[in-house]
Order: sequence, then structure tokens, then C-alpha cells
Amino acid sequence: MYIIDTHAHLYGEEFHEDIDQVIERAHLNGVGKIFLPNIDEASISGMNQLVQKFPGFFFPMIGLHPTDLTEDYQDVLFRMEEQLARPEHPYIGIGEVGLDYYWDDRMKKEQLAAFDFQVQWSLKYDLPLMIHCRSAHADLVKVLQSYSGEPLRGVFHSFVGTPDEAEELLVFQHFALGVNGIVTFKKSALPETLAQVVPLERLVLETDSPYLAPTPYRGKRNESSYLPYVVCKLSEIYGCEETEVIRQTTETALKIFDKVKGE
Ligand SMILES: [Zn+2]
Repeated sequence: MYIIDTHAHLYGEEFHEDIDQVIERAHLNGVGKIFLPNIDEASISGMNQLVQKFPGFFFPMIGLHPTDLTEDYQDVLFRMEEQLARPEHPYIGIGEVGLDYYWDDRMKKEQLAAFDFQVQWSLKYDLPLMIHCRSAHADLVKVLQSYSGEPLRGVFHSFVGTPDEAEELLVFQHFALGVNGIVTFKKSALPETLAQVVPLERLVLETDSPYLAPTPYRGKRNESSYLPYVVCKLSEIYGCEETEVIRQTTETALKIFDKVKGE
């Protein structure tokens, strides 16, 4: 049994110096696989080099992050899709994609168009979505509702919403909520929300490294080896053994990311 970090940007320059030690610490702390969401075109080749160096441990996704949209985003999406169209491509998911009106709401129309276009990739190439959503809950639900009846699946990454928002997302049956270090923060309302309305089997673990390190590393560079702090907190919230948290979240992650072999 092992932990899966479903969302880590370990290909970033923050890790260039010591990626080997970061991986070793992850292993020592029970992390068996790490999924890498892509954010833009420039990060693709570094991410894939890392995947090739550690096959069976790192698994890449491809997608354009909503805060990385440029004026020529349609050309970027065209070139990204060329990669997906190759039958031997390495990608296990579309991500990270979504809507972010917090950082920049000037490009709402373009964000919605880019997101919708990449949701279609999910169906066309039979891959799960890794969804980023900030200050855009209603629009996210609206886009996904327009695909009701289609076999969409994926993760609502870094969920921090209200109980009502959690319930509205859980209506999408083949999706899980991604939980990271935020759940360990002192004033976070997330533990209560999870306990109230989210069954353990609808959660997956993530770090969002290098961001969102759990307590006691809050504010520092995050890495996958810190996931046991999140596991420990979830075992408190759900009143179960830590091994049960790991077993259940790993099973859910492998069910959604079904291109990844379990072993
Ligand atoms: Zn991310």
C-alpha cells in the first residue's frame, strides 16, 4: 500500500537542485506514485524528462492553466493537442485546466473557451480532468452541467469551498476532491466541511508542491514527503486508521486515472 500524490509540480525550478533527495524522501514516507499536472507549453519538456528518468513513479498530464492564458492561447492549445493525438503519448490526464477569476477576471471569456475546449479533450482522448477553480464555482458547475450524460471524470484540485459547494461538485459522480496541506491549517473550515458532507471515498491526496505545505511546514516549499501530515489529519476527521485513508484515497485516484497501472 502506498500514497499517491495526485498533484505536484516537481518539474519546477524550485526542485532543480535536489530533486533526487525530494524523491528519496517521498519514497521513505510511503509515496508510491506522483502525478504531474502541466501548466503551460514551456513546462512540458522538463516535465517529460523527469518522467523518463523515473518511469512508473512520475506520470504527466497536459493542459493549459487558466492563469497562463496568453493572447495566442488557441495556437498553444492546437500544439498541445498535436501531442495528445499521438497514440504513444505519455499523458494520464488533462490538466491542470479550469477557471481562475481571483488572479485575473479580465479574460473570463477566453478562460471559459479554453476550459470548454480542454473538457472536450477529456472525452475525445478518454482522459480524466485535473481541474483548478478559484472564485469561479458557479461557472465551473455550469460548464460541467453542459456535459451531463457524458462520461467525464476527474479531480477538483485543492478544494476549499463551502459544504454547499462540495455537494454541488459531488453531484458529478466520477469526480473526487483533491485535499492538500490546507486541511491542516489552524483556521481552515475544510475539516468541518469534509466531515459534514464528503465521504472519504470521494477524496484524493495531493500536495500542489511547491505550494501549500502542511503544518508544521506552512509557508515553506512543499514536497510529496509531507503528505503523511495530511493523512494524519484526515484520519482524525474521519475517525479511521491512517492506513484506511491511504488505501481509500489511492483506490479512488487509480479508479479516476485509469491509464496508471495499480500494482
Ligand atoms: Zn497545481
